[in-house]
Amino acid sequence: MSHLVLKNVKKAYGELEVIKGVNMEIEQGDFCVFVGPSGCGKSTLLRMISGLESITDGTISIGGAVVNDVPAADRGLAMVFQSYALYPHMSVRQNLTFGLENMRTSKAEIKTKVAKVSKMLQIEELLDRKPKALSGGQRQRVAIGRAVVREPAVFLFDEPLSNLDAELRVEMRREIAKLHHDLQNTMIYVTHDQVEAMTMADKIAVLRLGQVEQFGRPLDIYNHPNNIFVAGFIGSPR
Ligand code: ADP
Ligand code: MG
Repeated sequence: MSHLVLKNVKKAYGELEVIKGVNMEIEQGDFCVFVGPSGCGKSTLLRMISGLESITDGTISIGGAVVNDVPAADRGLAMVFQSYALYPHMSVRQNLTFGLENMRTSKAEIKTKVAKVSKMLQIEELLDRKPKALSGGQRQRVAIGRAVVREPAVFLFDEPLSNLDAELRVEMRREIAKLHHDLQNTMIYVTHDQVEAMTMADKIAVLRLGQVEQFGRPLDIYNHPNNIFVAGFIGSPR
């Protein structure tokens, strides 16, 4: 059974249909990348999976259960955004642990989790700082750490590295790949960057105008693009 199943998922804003019937099955533990040009619907699709956006038609299932009517907080997912979305008035430590008490986690457990995650993401030295005293790369590490402590069944990333410079982007790509290797979670990663898609993905969904043009393994798509758009976008030289 696939971990995440989308069946004929649609989204319309008034007359404008921005997601036009997406079907997809994502396997447990896969690193799946949604790639496509700006405005093709990547964020909308991810937000619908997360529950931050309602869906107009179709069904989304996680672990075999339809979650259309399940609120975002109860879907067992964690999302990492381009803009970090850290709480500015809280320390890094508070950002990591905020809300965990509500999940019936004991103080001792929280301490252990924070220690483990901050070591994993190399933010141990930053725990008492406020977000404004961090670099972009450090902020994104904290944002990823905040997702990791929640131990979600699925991680959702929306262009998490777009605000970082090229060098840091390469480093963070490796970090995220390592995270996936260590945790073996299902992850969905949105990017408009073909190189990121090709290097990080187990599976790629190429989106265009609210539709999936092709879904498959990076090399299969590269070698056998379904159409000229996919060929052009994934950059098969022909
Ligand atoms: P991407 O993340 O691939 O750049 P988005 O998912 O953000 O694309 O947007 C897909 C399309 O939906 C775009 O044409 C965008 O203008 C439109 N859109 C997104 N949010 C809204 C909204 N709240 N109201 C109307 N149109 C929207
Ligand atoms: Mg987007």
